[in-house]
Amino acid sequence: MIPLTFPAISEAQAPYITRLRSRDITELGDFDSRLVDQDDSGVAYVGAEGLLAIDGATADMLEGDVLLVQPGGKRVERILRAGSLHNTLLVTERCDQLCVMCSQPPKKSHVDRFALLEQACLLAEPNLLIGISGGEPTLFKDQLLSMVERVLVARPDLSFHILTNGQHFAEDDIERLSAPIYRKVSWGIPLYASSPELHDEIVGKQGAFDALQDGFANLLIAGGRVELRTALLSSNLDALPDLASFVTSRLRFVEAWSIMQLEHIGFAKGRWNKLFVDHRQQFGPLAQAIDWALLHGVRAQLFNFPRCTVPQAYRSLALASISDWKRKYPSGCAPCRERSQCSGFFEWHPDEHAGMIVEPL
Ligand code: SF4
Repeated sequence: MIPLTFPAISEAQAPYITRLRSRDITELGDFDSRLVDQDDSGVAYVGAEGLLAIDGATADMLEGDVLLVQPGGKRVERILRAGSLHNTLLVTERCDQLCVMCSQPPKKSHVDRFALLEQACLLAEPNLLIGISGGEPTLFKDQLLSMVERVLVARPDLSFHILTNGQHFAEDDIERLSAPIYRKVSWGIPLYASSPELHDEIVGKQGAFDALQDGFANLLIAGGRVELRTALLSSNLDALPDLASFVTSRLRFVEAWSIMQLEHIGFAKGRWNKLFVDHRQQFGPLAQAIDWALLHGVRAQLFNFPRCTVPQAYRSLALASISDWKRKYPSGCAPCRERSQCSGFFEWHPDEHAGMIVEPL
């Protein structure tokens, strides 16, 4: 797994953002830190906030990365990794749902890092698509939208993909979200069933389905770009064909419908046997739902499905969806010709299971 944090010490008193440079050091910007030392234990940089020493990393590993330095926590966080297409900003760990399979169970506390994350975005590599997730980012809707708007005005080459439960888009937001700048923003919104009862049960919140429909309506009027997301669970497997009908009749404006296999982490880890669907054995309802969606012009796709575990007719829909830093391939994948197009497995997926099911293509 690619590390996203390192132990570090800094002369600064408060958290700050910096970009690390060891090459082209004649062109340092105000937020850049320049390499001054490197040995077997780590690297040292100097910038506007003084000295920064990072353990367990090399200058090549961190070249061009944008870091959040947390002197109090004695660590640095790699907010934007240079050369990676998989950078996601965690804006809050607070959430107003409690999904049965949540991969990152919510916390009550919230640490406001919007100003720091905004500064990080301004240092991003050209044309980067930046992910935003939580928790539920729209619990801090005004701060979120203000950050996105300021960044996109200063850096029109960037774009954002924001994961949200979609329940907090009100009529009052339509005018704001209709601004041309929001063509650079797409919203990843989960819907687990066309039955309000089942959706609410999965997300652990009564009224969630109805609130989401209001949110969809407001986003639709605003011309919002939506990627619909559905986690595959034992409880919604047989409901997928009905959901496909709902999507094609009520939500045809979505840019894509991503059906996602489960992550073996968070709440899902403890409930794995109850929640996990072995799609190799039970692909029927998935196939029905996908066929219906494609037939009606909705772009269905499969996330977190290793390609060799998907029937050949649907294999092209199984995308390399898992971020580089948390993706792994068992040794059995070595001879596979489709590895570059394959999601592989989450780093935390049991090795025994992954090794047992792969069949190189
Ligand atoms: S063998 Fe490995 S790389 Fe190839 S399709 Fe299966 S999981 Fe993906």
